[in-house]
Amino acid sequence: MGPEAVAVHGFQEKVLAHLGEPLKATGIEILQVNLGFLCNMSCKHCHAGAGPERKELMEEKTVKEVLSVLGENDIPTLDLTGGAPELVSHFRYMVRQARELGRRVMVRTNLTTFFEKGMEDLPEFYAENGVEVVASLPYYIESGVDRVRGAGTFKKSIKAIEKLNRLGYGVEGGGTLNLVYNPQGAFLPPGQETLEEEYNRELKKNFGISFNELYTFANMPIGRFRDFLRLTGNVDKYIETLTTAFNPATLDGLMCRHLISVGWDGTLYDCDFNLVLGLPVDESCPRRISELDYSKLSRRKIAVDEHCFGCTAGQGST
Ligand code: SF4
Repeated sequence: MGPEAVAVHGFQEKVLAHLGEPLKATGIEILQVNLGFLCNMSCKHCHAGAGPERKELMEEKTVKEVLSVLGENDIPTLDLTGGAPELVSHFRYMVRQARELGRRVMVRTNLTTFFEKGMEDLPEFYAENGVEVVASLPYYIESGVDRVRGAGTFKKSIKAIEKLNRLGYGVEGGGTLNLVYNPQGAFLPPGQETLEEEYNRELKKNFGISFNELYTFANMPIGRFRDFLRLTGNVDKYIETLTTAFNPATLDGLMCRHLISVGWDGTLYDCDFNLVLGLPVDESCPRRISELDYSKLSRRKIAVDEHCFGCTAGQGST
């Protein structure tokens, strides 16, 4: 048995050893919706393998089902992701409707969508609707970002943050702008607090821009990042790095315990990573958004596999 096969069974065993039972949800605080895999970029580390050629997009019928679930259940937050969720035609409708329902709305953005045709007013749209912005900026140095995300990405990202700052985002008393760091290779992220200080200092000094918080995420060994690991002969080594860094203190805060993820076609998952892997929620629960059973899902058993070590390594990635 190779190291990968050991890890597949290892996660469930680690959870059992520390919690005394399989990993289970403790509620649903967030409805995370993946609007599709279409994106204007094709980043090397993308766990979803998103890109301009992807055709999977949420249809109007599913958007309405999502909104009706939000209206009928006490789920305080809608978290929109993709691909680039802004490129999906029902995106703005969904944001407005969710805000009318009084829900907190977060959007995961790659920042460069602001420069796509017809998207120039996105920052204003966010500000007008009180949307919280979670933006990828995998480093504060141009070469580090452009190597992973494509030439010109860093400059566009800085311009986008400048605009968000002008609208009050990332400044005291204004809208929330959080940034996301993930490593540019097969290693774990550094400590979140130290890196946040570095980002703050360097972005302020070099570009005069600011943000609220920095989240550090380990790369998940799935999607395009797994292809990269395979190409460089690093799959087993990286899984071993994640496995060795298992931190039981991260188990309580794992996002799958607090959210439910909806795929572009309305299938329910424990998280966006399970969505990409095609691992739906436990069979004891209905698996379609149109049949969502809040009570069952709130205490469901979570589908885990070796990629879960990406969430529990070091400080954790949640
Ligand atoms: S990959 Fe998903 S299911 Fe696994 S621990 Fe992370 S959030 Fe939970």
